[in-house]
Amino acid sequence: MENNGSPVRGPAPTAHPSDAATAEPAGDRFLAGRTALVTGAASGIGRACAEALAAAGATVHVVDRAAEAAKRVAEEIGGTAWVVDLSDPDAVDGLPDDADIVVNNAGLQHVAPVHDFPPERFALIQRVMVEAPFRILRRTLPHMYEREWGRVINISSVHGLRASPFKSAYVTAKHALEGLSKVVALEGAPHGVTSNCVNPGYVRTPLVEDQIANQALAHGISPEDVVERVMLERTAIKRLIEPEEVAQAALWLCSPHTAYITGVSLPVDGGWTAH
Ligand code: NAD
Repeated sequence: MENNGSPVRGPAPTAHPSDAATAEPAGDRFLAGRTALVTGAASGIGRACAEALAAAGATVHVVDRAAEAAKRVAEEIGGTAWVVDLSDPDAVDGLPDDADIVVNNAGLQHVAPVHDFPPERFALIQRVMVEAPFRILRRTLPHMYEREWGRVINISSVHGLRASPFKSAYVTAKHALEGLSKVVALEGAPHGVTSNCVNPGYVRTPLVEDQIANQALAHGISPEDVVERVMLERTAIKRLIEPEEVAQAALWLCSPHTAYITGVSLPVDGGWTAH
């Protein structure tokens, strides 16, 4: 939570009808009256999701450990910033439990062969990318069940469906998130709650920009060659994905047209998993 234990609020959000809990508001603002909690919302895909959900009318809890960036995003979209380190279970349990939509997005990468992989780094990645989503869902699902409507979006990865060498913690965590997502789909179905994964290939975000820089150094090649020869090797569509494209897939899974889609993993990967 924000340093002194209280959230940082942006300007009051506009027009959220209090009686919209069961109705499906039509039009562009079909999420008016809904509350969303997005982790890792200060940057990249999480930020794009927070913006897209807010533009569709949701009130957004912007959760991130990056205080200034989280506050900026919250101010921009009329949401509330929660400055939390998701590797701290107590802090995670202090997050609000009133979300109708949860986007489990925060994540980090570490690249090393298994025999050199630091165990504490492995454990940290599981805490942030598996345990925190579990803890957030165990506290927010009762609220969704009470309202008989909920949407859980887990930002997984092609690495939730396939493996790559040197990414043991990340691939393990994403496969675990896939399992959690399916269990929540089964348990949530009688309560109007869907749970799905979105599985991007390489997205143009700081997380990937860092990997490009590191790999360029490690292999002694240019950043452009890292993108073309390493990252896009398996991808049929030869460009990085933009965060907004992933956010639109997440938003679509919250729309009135997708209530029957649950327990699936939606690749947004330019054909990566078609191999
Ligand atoms: P990013 O680095 O731009 O953003 C990640 C955000 O998570 C940051 O704001 C960071 O502060 C936050 N975060 C990290 N650890 C945290 C912690 N302990 N507590 C609180 N916040 C924390 O990354 P991104 O590329 O937008 O990635 C978002 C998600 O998308 C991740 O789960 C990632 O695995 C997944 N993903 C990314 C790509 C890609 O190519 N960028 C591809 C597939 C999946």
